[in-house]
Amino acid sequence: MAVQPYDPENIFAKILRGEIPCTKVYEDDHVLAFNDIAPQAPTHVLVIPKGSYTSYDDFALNASDAEIVAYTRAIGKISKEAGVVEDGYRLIANTREHGRQDVPHLHVHILGGEKLPRMLPGA
Ligand code: 5GP
Repeated sequence: MAVQPYDPENIFAKILRGEIPCTKVYEDDHVLAFNDIAPQAPTHVLVIPKGSYTSYDDFALNASDAEIVAYTRAIGKISKEAGVVEDGYRLIANTREHGRQDVPHLHVHILGGEKLPRMLPGA
């Protein structure tokens, strides 16, 4: 049983249905990626599966092999296309309350384009 039911009214579900615009950077049968509306680095892309998954654990445990391969490959392609691979970048998947996830549809943030602050305060 899912830890958390999927809310079809979340903002990324609306983007997937075309009800809210986005600046698309990549799309295939299983994946959509677009620029974050409030970028926290020169490159800040959100990569989402098209399926209704709330979090990375939900996706990893319940998505099909085809979806998982497509998502993983897409993150590689988008990172390369964004030009952040050589100097480096950060992937973040905030998850539920303790992870401070705001939008309950799985998204991986790709952040790069400059040297980022350390991940956690004091780390
Ligand atoms: P979370 O805190 O859930 O990991 O990240 C949600 C992200 O979605 C935030 O970085 C926020 O700026 C972004 N976001 C929220 N609403 C929209 C929107 O309508 N369009 C886009 N492109 N990004 C959004």
